[in-house]
Amino acid sequence: MSRWINARLGQLEEYVPGEQPQDMQYIKLNTNEFPYPPAPAVAERLDKAEINALRLYSDPTCRVLREKLATRYDVSPDEVFVGNGSDEVLNFAFWAYGTDGVRFADITYGFYPVFADLHDLPVSIMPLREDFSIDINDYLNCRQMTVIANPNAPTGLALSLDEMEAVVRSNPDHVVVIDEAYVDFGAQSAIPLTRRYPNLLVVGTFSKSRALAGARVGFGIGNKELIRDLNRIKNTTNPYNINRLSMAAAEEAVQSRSYYESCIEKVKQSREKTKQALRGLGFLVTDSQANFLFASHPKISGKALYEALKQRGILVRHFDRERIRAYVRITIGTQEQMEALLTACQAIINKGE
Ligand code: PMP
Repeated sequence: MSRWINARLGQLEEYVPGEQPQDMQYIKLNTNEFPYPPAPAVAERLDKAEINALRLYSDPTCRVLREKLATRYDVSPDEVFVGNGSDEVLNFAFWAYGTDGVRFADITYGFYPVFADLHDLPVSIMPLREDFSIDINDYLNCRQMTVIANPNAPTGLALSLDEMEAVVRSNPDHVVVIDEAYVDFGAQSAIPLTRRYPNLLVVGTFSKSRALAGARVGFGIGNKELIRDLNRIKNTTNPYNINRLSMAAAEEAVQSRSYYESCIEKVKQSREKTKQALRGLGFLVTDSQANFLFASHPKISGKALYEALKQRGILVRHFDRERIRAYVRITIGTQEQMEALLTACQAIINKGE
């Protein structure tokens, strides 16, 4: 660190992303990426003409992409914001709405406390129940901004639409952010509620169910006043926040619904099969509605399992944090990758006996 950095910024704790090994020799089940490639229309779109157009700035209003998202989600284009990954949308939301403090779970997406710290916001951390479910009573009438990942990460557990509505309804004077990064793998979306609740911001991403993690495109859907706020922040920090190639890729991805739906179906089937098989090996596995499983085994620590799998060429995610040290989070890959994972888990568990 240099001696010139602003003293407060110099003390921030950084978010630690999952490993991204560059040699690509692992079966990579550690950062919840999609195991199948982007839709064929995405590759067709990224042609020479698109490359040549890179000399021009991208559309700072993301008009075409917003229109396509609006059609897809049955909202109007001025109710859609596009961000550089949903991380950017979340960052802007914390910045804009967190002044009275931000409330989120003790076990949830690890970037929330980092954003809160970045913007110097007070936080209220609400412990999940023993079974890792969210008690919505913790979020009713809370007089501060609320952020809920649905399904939650890394547990994969989801709230019902009624539960989300109760939270949004009881906090009319503060923004409620529902982070739907994993919603397409089995949970109900809160987007239809944005029509009735001006304080609801739903955040989505192209990184998981649309196979575009490397393109960095996310979005926010909510009342147009909220969207105007997010644009205000974007236009005072980085107006061309989405690059041309990513915008083109995302436009095609929104249109390719049936391709993604069939891939998502395969992911869900692999998830259920893998869950049953892991339980058969004695693992405790949550009922995940996301594209990952959260699992622990009485005979081995989470860290030891992570390391043993890594030695066998399989990367999963371990969080060295209270309450969840015993667990690993396993992204759902192809069926073949899940079979390799199960074979490795079986060998590791048996060796420990
Ligand atoms: N929300 C949750 C719950 C996540 O797990 C992630 C992925 N790490 C994100 C948001 C951010 O994803 P992205 O910035 O790639 O859209």
